[in-house]
Amino acid sequence: MRIVVIGSGFGGLAAAIRLQAQGHDVTIVEKLDKAGGRGYVFEQDGFTFDAGPTIITAPWLIDELFALTGRKTEDYIKLVLLDPFYNIRFEDGSVFHYNGDRDAIVRQVGEFNPDDVAGYLKFREKAWEIFNVGMPLIDKPFLTAGSMIKMLPDLIRTRSDISVAALADKYLKDERLRQVFSFHPLLVGGNPYKTSSMYALIHKLEQQWGVLFAMGGTGALVRALVQAFEDLGGTIRFESEVKEITVDAARKRTTGVKLVSGEVFKADAVVCNGDVAQAYRTLLPPEVRPSMSNAKVERMRFSMSLFVIYFGTDRKYEDIAHHEIIMGPRYKALLEDIFEKKILADDFSLYLHRPTATDPSLAPPGHDCWYVLSPVPHLGGDVDWAAVGDRYRDRIMGYLEERYMPELSKHIVSERRIDPRYFETNLNSYLGSAFGPEPVLTQSAYMRPHNVSQDIPNLYFCGAGTHPGAGIPGVISSGKIVAELIGGAPARALAPAPELSLR
Ligand SMILES: Cc1cc2nc3c(=O)[nH]c(=O)nc-3n(C[C@H](O)[C@H](O)[C@H](O)COP(=O)(O)OP(=O)(O)OC[C@H]3O[C@@H](n4cnc5c(N)ncnc54)[C@H](O)[C@@H]3O)c2cc1C
Repeated sequence: MRIVVIGSGFGGLAAAIRLQAQGHDVTIVEKLDKAGGRGYVFEQDGFTFDAGPTIITAPWLIDELFALTGRKTEDYIKLVLLDPFYNIRFEDGSVFHYNGDRDAIVRQVGEFNPDDVAGYLKFREKAWEIFNVGMPLIDKPFLTAGSMIKMLPDLIRTRSDISVAALADKYLKDERLRQVFSFHPLLVGGNPYKTSSMYALIHKLEQQWGVLFAMGGTGALVRALVQAFEDLGGTIRFESEVKEITVDAARKRTTGVKLVSGEVFKADAVVCNGDVAQAYRTLLPPEVRPSMSNAKVERMRFSMSLFVIYFGTDRKYEDIAHHEIIMGPRYKALLEDIFEKKILADDFSLYLHRPTATDPSLAPPGHDCWYVLSPVPHLGGDVDWAAVGDRYRDRIMGYLEERYMPELSKHIVSERRIDPRYFETNLNSYLGSAFGPEPVLTQSAYMRPHNVSQDIPNLYFCGAGTHPGAGIPGVISSGKIVAELIGGAPARALAPAPELSLR
């Protein structure tokens, strides 16, 4: 079959690699000049800034993709295990070094609060139990209500109805430890107080398989996946924005896509990796999608957006780890400001990324490469980013300078930033949401936008906005679901390996 994939995010690349390996003739059409979507790369003043994802988990999902070329992941890219996974810093000066060493975790829990050790061990056991229920669902399509109903006994047993934060609160007393073991939903666009406790499985995922980093940056992983796709014979076209998914309304079939340039790509099936909400609202006329009206799409709750400052320093800050989570003075109330009230608070919690701690090649010698990220409301609030952006930037950089990075302002030699408008404009995301529909239970599995259109059976969706959800493991799994729904040769007869052009 001829298949067009709209978008080259991790989900689109995963779908495209699998479909090409299944014997289809796949073309990716990507709006931007480079692949990766949220995993875009800004190169500036000798620094390589990964724009988005930096934390790699569930490495076997990546291995599966490269294996489809008949080679191994390490033939394309080097993934390294980090230790610590993250430092989690608190306003009182305490630091939790979160890694995969069970004894070190238990020891630190005891140092934070001796009374919480037994509770942590129970929380850990619970996370393992949840993992065993939740992880097998990550690559299963949920296309019928029945598929969800079948899961109910497991969901009830593992208390998926309560939030990750409620789970942490149940087992831990120390407020800082509650944050250490509940912040993870933020990595996939969820408010820990609203996201199902199912997401506690991330704890086990990280503990067992670790947190990894791609040498050369996440952008190098994107390039490696593009290379794998091309090695399989696939085609990728950049600067090719889709304006319309063409539909034969009488047959209820998509016939391909039409680009903004007017160029038409005929296809037997289309896979959309662009933001689901925006795709339904803008790429398909309402009359061909009665199951997904604009009103239905707009009724969904959307994840927060992000304010990210990328900067380079002409000195190194060796005391700072690769990943730092910097908790501000408020947790629950700040999350409410971001997700519910949609206001820009005076305080913030930050994620600070220093990839040169692992791979110095991302900056000139003696320099450090950084980004600092603050979760902020999506554009459904009324924050005027053109007016407040500079001030917000100064507050964040001032805070870092005062508390963690002495004389920072004197050492910045390169800088750029994005705010929610970037997600709306560059990445075509509804409301500038950074992660698509919020991962609440009522927007999960069968209740999340499906991986195949209910109205147009040869139109498929993968990526953060569809099942199972955001994050690299989630979107890669959505690509697997789509490829399995479309079908094709189950295993590709491997041709002699062509010369590798990327190592
Ligand atoms: C700052 C940031 C940090 C993150 N950190 C992590 C992390 O550390 N670990 C992790 O696992 N996850 C992380 N995430 C989440 C993760 O990056 C995303 O969930 C995931 O990359 C989204 O992939 P996707 O397949 O949905 O595609 P996207 O990345 O959303 O890409 C979609 C692509 O479609 C293209 N497109 C859209 N519309 C059209 C059109 N009409 N025509 C042609 N092309 C179109 C876009 O240009 C884009 O390239 C982070 C996200 C952000 C924003």
